[in-house]
Amino acid sequence: MSDNIRVRFAPSPTGSLHLGGARTAIYNWLFARSVGGKFLLRIEDTDVERSRRELVDQICDSLLWLGLNWDEEPVFQSQRMNLYRERVAELLDAGKAYRCFCTSQELEAEKNATIKQNKAYRYSGKCRNLSSQQAEQLAAQGNPFTVRIRLEPGVIEWDDLVYGHIAVNNNELDDFIIQRSNGIPVYQMAVVVDDIDMKISHIIRGEDHIPNTPKQINLFRAFDQPIPQFAHLPLLLGTDNKRLSKRHGATGVDEYREQGYPAEAVLNYLALLGWAPQDEREVLEVGEIIEQFNLTAISRKAAVFDTKKLEWISGEHLSRMSAQKIKRILVPKLVASRLLTENEIDSQSDYLEAIIEILRGRIRTFNQFIEWGGYFFRDPKNYDEKAVAKYWKNPMTEQRLAEFSRELATINDFTANVLEERLRQYAERTGLKAAELIHPLRLALTGFGISPGIFQVMEILGKKNVLRRIQKAIEHFTT
Ligand code: GLU
Repeated sequence: MSDNIRVRFAPSPTGSLHLGGARTAIYNWLFARSVGGKFLLRIEDTDVERSRRELVDQICDSLLWLGLNWDEEPVFQSQRMNLYRERVAELLDAGKAYRCFCTSQELEAEKNATIKQNKAYRYSGKCRNLSSQQAEQLAAQGNPFTVRIRLEPGVIEWDDLVYGHIAVNNNELDDFIIQRSNGIPVYQMAVVVDDIDMKISHIIRGEDHIPNTPKQINLFRAFDQPIPQFAHLPLLLGTDNKRLSKRHGATGVDEYREQGYPAEAVLNYLALLGWAPQDEREVLEVGEIIEQFNLTAISRKAAVFDTKKLEWISGEHLSRMSAQKIKRILVPKLVASRLLTENEIDSQSDYLEAIIEILRGRIRTFNQFIEWGGYFFRDPKNYDEKAVAKYWKNPMTEQRLAEFSRELATINDFTANVLEERLRQYAERTGLKAAELIHPLRLALTGFGISPGIFQVMEILGKKNVLRRIQKAIEHFTT
C-alpha cells in the first residue's frame, strides 16, 4: 500500500534489548506492518568501546523471538564512517558547516565564564567567520579542528505525531559539532545521514530523543532533504511511577523469555503501554493488533509496566494457545529440567497433552508448568509444610489412606468419574467427609496443598503411580 513508508529501529548494541527498546521496536514494526511499509534495522555501533558484536546477536535474537522481522539488510553504522565523512565534507563545501579550531581549553574557559554568569552555555561562534583561506591555512599547519554546523537563524518546528506541535528557536541551540577532531562524525550526524540514505519517512523513538530532534532537523535542512515525521514515545515507568530500571526487577526481553513468558504475551503487553485499541480489549493476537494499530492513537502519558498485568495477559494467551504449540516450547524446558528424556518425547506425547490441558487454565508462564506440574514427571520429594500442618494432622490419616489405597488397587477403570464415585462411597461408609480424604491424597500425590481436580490428576498419573505415591507418603509421615 505505502511503499514509501519506511521506519527503522536503531538500537545501540551496548546492552541487551530492554523493555523500552522493545516497545519502540514494536511500535515501529506495528506501524510498518499496518500500513504496508518497511521496517528496517540499524545498528548504531559507532561507540566502538561500548558496542559488542554478541549484543547485536542478542538484540536480533530478541527481536525475532518477539516476531519482529525486519526488511532489507541491517545497516551497521560502524561500516559507514566514510559515508558520514563525505557528507560532512559536502556541508563544508557548501558553507553549511565550518571548521572550528578552538582548543578544548579555550572552550572550557568560555563555558566556565558563562556558567559564572548563570547562563546556559552555547558555543560563541568564534570560528564561524574564519574565511575559507584562513581555515585552509590553519588546517594545513596541522592545527586540529572539529567541524560544526552553521545554524541559520529561525525556528525549528514539527508536529510530533504523539506530542503535538513543538517549536525550538535556533538561538537556543549552538553551532554543534558534527565531526570530532579525530575525524569521527558525531551521533546526530550519523543518524541524519542514515535516515536520509535509508529514506526513512517516520522516526518513532523514545521521548528522551526530543532534545535531539531540533538538531537533526537542522541537519536535514542543511542537506535540503524533506523532514521525516516524528513520533516520540512516552516514558516507561515502574509501578512506583519512577522511570523503569533494574530496581524494578527484570528489564531485559531475554529475561522474560527465560522466565517462560510467551512471546505473543510480551508483545501484546508492551503494545498496550502507550496505545490501546478502540474497543479497549487487552488480550489480542498480533494480527488483531496490526489491524487496529494507529500511530496517532499513542498517548503521551507515561505508561506503567506492571509484571502482574503481564502475568495475567500471559495466562490468557496460554489458555488460548494450542496444546501442540505449548508442547513445542515446553518439551525443551522439561528436558533441560531433567523431567523428560529425549527418548521419551514421542512416547509421552499424549501424556504431555493431557498435562497441558489440565494445567493451562491455572498457570501463567511456561515455567510454571514445571514449577506446578513437576509431580506429573516424578514423585514428590517434599510435601508443602503449610499444607501438611493443615491437612495431615489427624493421626488416622495414614491408616485411612492405606485402606483407601487397597480399594483403589481393585479399580480397573481408573478414570476420574469412577475414582470420584469410589472415594465418596468409601467416605460415606467410614463416616468421613470426602475432603478429609481428598486433601491428604492431594498432598501424597502432588506434594502441594492445591492442584487441579484430584480425580483428573489421578487418572493422568495412572494407578501404578498413584498407589506408589500413597505408599511413599505413608512411609514418609510414619517414620
Ligand atoms: N541509537 C539510539 C538509541 O538507542 C536511537 C536513535 C534514534 O532512534 O534516532 O536510543
